[in-house]
Amino acid sequence: MKEVTIIGSGVIGLCTAYYLNQQGASVTILDQNNAEDENCSVGNAGLIVPSHFIPLAAPGVITKGLKWMLNPTSPFYIKPRFNKDLIQWVWQFYKHSTAEHVFKSGQLLHDINRLSKELYEEIDGAGHFKFEFERNGLMMLYNTEKAGEEELEIAHKAKSLGIKVESLTAHKVLEIQEIPLNVKGGVYYPDDAQLNPNVFMKKMKAHLKSKGVGFKWNTKVIGVVEEKNKIQKIKTNQGDLKVDNLVIATGSWTSELATSLRLKIPIQAGKGYSFNINQGKENLKVPSVLCEAKIAVTPFGQDLRFAGTMGIQGLSLKKNNRRIDSIKKAIPKYFSSINMDAVNASEAWAGLRPCSPDGLPFIGKGKQDNTFIATGHAMMGMSLGPITGKLLTEMITDQKQSLNIDKLSPLRYS
Ligand SMILES: Cc1cc2nc3c(=O)[nH]c(=O)nc-3n(C[C@H](O)[C@H](O)[C@H](O)COP(=O)(O)OP(=O)(O)OC[C@H]3O[C@@H](n4cnc5c(N)ncnc54)[C@H](O)[C@@H]3O)c2cc1C
Repeated sequence: MKEVTIIGSGVIGLCTAYYLNQQGASVTILDQNNAEDENCSVGNAGLIVPSHFIPLAAPGVITKGLKWMLNPTSPFYIKPRFNKDLIQWVWQFYKHSTAEHVFKSGQLLHDINRLSKELYEEIDGAGHFKFEFERNGLMMLYNTEKAGEEELEIAHKAKSLGIKVESLTAHKVLEIQEIPLNVKGGVYYPDDAQLNPNVFMKKMKAHLKSKGVGFKWNTKVIGVVEEKNKIQKIKTNQGDLKVDNLVIATGSWTSELATSLRLKIPIQAGKGYSFNINQGKENLKVPSVLCEAKIAVTPFGQDLRFAGTMGIQGLSLKKNNRRIDSIKKAIPKYFSSINMDAVNASEAWAGLRPCSPDGLPFIGKGKQDNTFIATGHAMMGMSLGPITGKLLTEMITDQKQSLNIDKLSPLRYS
């Protein structure tokens, strides 16, 4: 029987455990946090997005980023600081922000997103647990002509990749959403979906426990012992642990650990925030993205969750009220009927998206025969959890890969 130790209990770690467990592997998950502590996989917008095919590194982002860099309330913000890793990351990001990179990555990003959504359908259908999985699509809402033109251009490219998409007038948007909105129009991706990440994570953990997966909390991995091209032991704050196979699913914290595995995995944490507003019975019907403000809006029952901003500011989870206020300020531009006084910035949730400089995740084998890496999913980690877990499981259990993911190799910067 394969024995696998997974470092990290985010969505990537849990989904990997799910598929390994199905293949009969004996799995233990370690996390530096305690069981109730949150990571980036709880509190996010819960959008499952086969429509997303553009990596974070794309033309225009750098130009906007440079302008936004001077403005800490902008949607994408890089805090200027003299740090070698950050400078190298920004340089790599700049190099990848080309039309050619977007073109080359688009099909793969769409394919893994589409397969991952199918796997969510399977998990939902298996009936072990329910996680408020709904297939209502995703609406990109805009209230300026410029954003409308940009969205229609993206929609055109999406169509060429085989993604279903419809352009909607403002009238049609209001008819579908059934609440007052100030928009000029929308672009609708009917094949997207949503889930409640808080519910998914909690129930997935309980399911895994019931299937015999072990959890070790408050266990921070600080190094490894390598012999004969294998990681034999991991060093933790609770002592050394012997390992057979090792999965690194440590999200934004991966770069340092990767060094002890002789790997260069450039990851910067992209801090974002979310908060819920109770809407009563009159809630949005279809989850949406407010295009100009880059805010995701997801209805969960009577609550509406707003999630946004990307701050490359290091690994601190400290909340910055100015950035939360920037989300609060943008909302009334689209939702005239929402009372923003109800939002208390101190109650907002903060999470660190693990961002790679080329906007592609790292999924695959490490340098040693028994190490496997899965991180760098940035804004798509919730969407890509199941396919990442399945692809790693196929590698670890020597099965045929569902998809060629050579481009996602964790060795590509080493
Ligand atoms: C505001 C916001 C909205 C988002 N909305 C969406 C969305 O709608 N759809 C979508 O697909 N994605 C979304 N995302 C992105 C998604 O949340 C992330 O990509 C995903 O959660 C990353 O999962 P992960 O498992 O890689 O990392 P994490 O969830 O951060 O888990 C990593 C775990 O590793 C542990 N760890 C790290 N280092 C060590 C160590 N040395 N020893 C032990 N344990 C360690 C950490 O404690 C942590 O629990 C959003 C993110 C944010 C911030």
